[in-house]
Amino acid sequence: MKIENGESRERRGQHRRDFLNVSLGAGAIAPFAGLSLFQLAPNRNASLTREQRDGMTPSQIIEELKKGNERFRSGKPTSRDYLAEKRASASGQYPAAVVLGCLDSRVPAEIIFDAGIGDTFVGRVAGNVVNDDMLGSMEFACGVSGAKVVLVLGHTACGAVKGAIDDVVLGNLTGLLARIKPAVAATKFDGEKSSKNARYVDAVARTNVTIGLTEIRRRSTILTDLEKKGTIKIAGAMYELSTGAVEFFA
Ligand SMILES: [Zn+2]
Repeated sequence: MKIENGESRERRGQHRRDFLNVSLGAGAIAPFAGLSLFQLAPNRNASLTREQRDGMTPSQIIEELKKGNERFRSGKPTSRDYLAEKRASASGQYPAAVVLGCLDSRVPAEIIFDAGIGDTFVGRVAGNVVNDDMLGSMEFACGVSGAKVVLVLGHTACGAVKGAIDDVVLGNLTGLLARIKPAVAATKFDGEKSSKNARYVDAVARTNVTIGLTEIRRRSTILTDLEKKGTIKIAGAMYELSTGAVEFFA
């Protein structure tokens, strides 16, 4: 019973915080436009609220991702209370973006964008390939949950891309790498076309992101319609392992 009472107190406190967040509302965002909404969200110890998320345009959300990456790579990430974020998001989530990233352990989207619990959906698979399950996940994120940005995030020195270049054959990996091979074939490159050539590997990874964006638009009517209406943006980016910088495609 004591534990339940404690939880009740915590919930009441949470409700007060939610009320404060709601009372701030989308209209209160403008005066803080110079600050990160992810950082603001709010007082650095809660997750994005529906009002904050819905108050942002897709372009503003991309700007927030860029600012978050700047904080990460400059060594000035937001000081977070994960337990507070956990409490704030347990009863509902309003993520602003869905990121399709690579399995690679060095590319954790939440960290490189300095986002907190509840701020972003993240789907990861080797080579950030688009498949039916990822498409379904992105359609849930935007069509059901209300996220406004789909970001396909490739990265430099990608092992999956190297495997596709080298025609690696290994169990179920063979089929996954087959999804990257169109990018190998489509990449125009002057120089040694080998997995040992870092510039070539990165060029193929970049093509792989571009093809991923094309595949999303070709295979998902739901996402394409949302994009045409301006409800969402579908964007691509490359993460540079050595610098920590994310370069968004124009
Ligand atoms: Zn990778």
